[in-house]
Amino acid sequence: MQSGGQVLSTGELAIGGVSTSALAQAYGTPLIVYDEAVIRKQISDYKEAFQAVRAEFRLAYACKAFCSVYMCKLAQDEGLWLDVVSGGELYTAIQSGFDTRHLLMHGNNKSMEELKLAISSQIGLIVIDNFYEIELLGQLLEEAQANMDVLIRVSPGVDVHTHDFISTGQQDSKFGFDLYSGQVEEAVTAIRCQPRLRLMGLHAHIGSQIFDAEGFRVAAERLADLSKKLVREYGVVTHILNLGGGLGIRYTAEDTPMPLETLVEEVVLAARAAYEHDGLSLPLIMLEPGRSIVAEAGTTLYRVGSRKEIPGLRTYVAVDGGMTDNPRLALYGAKYEAVIANRLDEPRSEVVSVAGKACESGDMLIWDAPLQKAQPGDLLAVFCTGAYNYAMASNYNRITRPAVVFVRDGAARLVLRRESYEDLLRLEATL
Ligand SMILES: *Cc1c(COP(=O)(O)O)cnc(C)c1O
Repeated sequence: MQSGGQVLSTGELAIGGVSTSALAQAYGTPLIVYDEAVIRKQISDYKEAFQAVRAEFRLAYACKAFCSVYMCKLAQDEGLWLDVVSGGELYTAIQSGFDTRHLLMHGNNKSMEELKLAISSQIGLIVIDNFYEIELLGQLLEEAQANMDVLIRVSPGVDVHTHDFISTGQQDSKFGFDLYSGQVEEAVTAIRCQPRLRLMGLHAHIGSQIFDAEGFRVAAERLADLSKKLVREYGVVTHILNLGGGLGIRYTAEDTPMPLETLVEEVVLAARAAYEHDGLSLPLIMLEPGRSIVAEAGTTLYRVGSRKEIPGLRTYVAVDGGMTDNPRLALYGAKYEAVIANRLDEPRSEVVSVAGKACESGDMLIWDAPLQKAQPGDLLAVFCTGAYNYAMASNYNRITRPAVVFVRDGAARLVLRRESYEDLLRLEATL
C-alpha cells in the first residue's frame, strides 16, 4: 500500500483515517485527496536531514507542484519559504497571508507586471534568469525606490537522466546563464551596475524526478568553482547556494529514488568539500523541492464507467476524469499504480488499461494495470497524484476541474471546490 493508505475491514481503501468511499460520496469524483500527515512528514524529513549534517539551510516549497491558498498556509505553518514562478502563484501566496519576505520568484520571462507585484509586495528574493531582466528589474526598482536581493540562475551544464522536458540543467536550455561562455560573469557585471540589486548568491536547478545525488554534486562543485572566481575577480561573496528542486519520488516499483536523508547528506557534504577545497566556507544551502513534498501525499479517486473489451488485444476501463486532471502520461509517458478502492480484499485478477473520458486517444491514465475486477460504479484510486496534476489540470472538452480535499486525523477538509458549469462561463464577456 502507498504511503498514507490503509485497508479497512470492509475491504475499502482509507486515506488519513477516512474511507475513500465516504470521501467520494461526500465530495464526488474525480477527487484529489491529500494525506496532510504525509506532506508534513516529508517536510520534517528534509529539515532533519539538514540538521543531521549541521548545515545552515533554507527550504522553499516550489508551489508550482500544487498551489492553493491552503497549501501556502501549510508551507508557512511549517516555516518554509515559497517558490513562485508567475504573478498568479505570487498572488495566491499573498492572498493566503504568506509572509512575502519569504517568497522567491523564478521565471525565464518575468513580465513587467509580475516584477512590479514582486517589488511592491517586498518579496525576499528574485532569481535572475537573463540580461533583459537585469535591466528591467533595475529600472523598476529605481522607479519604486526599492532594493531587491537576487540570485543568479546558472545553467551548470549538468545533464541528468530524466525526461528531456523536465531536464533543465544542460547547456542548451532556455533557463539561466550559461556557465561556460562567460555569460555568468557578464551577468555579475551587469547586476553590479544596478545599485538597487544586491547579489546574494547562485542558483541552479538541474531537473526533476532525479533519483541520485550525482547531478547535484556536480552542480555544487561547479558553483563552488564559480564562487571562488567571483570572490577573487569581483569581490562578490556567495551567501546563498540554491541547488533547486528535483528530488524524485516512487510512482511505481520501477522508480528507486535515493532516500531523501541520504540525498541531502551527500549533496551537502559534496558542496561543503568543494567550498572548503576552494578555501571558502559553505554558504547557506537552499533547496526548492516541489514534487517530493506533495506527490506521494496525493491520491485521485475516480468513478469507473464504461468498459471496452477487444478480444485477444486489450480491455479499456474508462473513468470520469483523465488527462484533464492528470496530463502526465500524455506529456511524459508517466506511470502510475492504482487499485479498485472498494475491492481491496479481492485479488488483482485482470490487467486492464485505464482511459480517461476526453476526446483524445492519448487520454490514458495507466497502460496495462493489474487490477481487481472493476465494475461500473467502482472507485479507482490512482496513487502519487499530488504533484503536477491539479496544477496542470485543464478544461479540455469543458470537463470541470476536480475538487481537492486534505485529510488529517480522520477528518476531511475541502480545500478546492469542484468546478461547476457556471464556473466554465465566468470568463464569457457576452453572456
Ligand atoms: C520546478 C522547479 C522546482 C521544483 O522541482 P521538483 O522536481 O518539483 O522538486 C524547483 N526549482 C525550480 C527553479 C523549478 O523550476
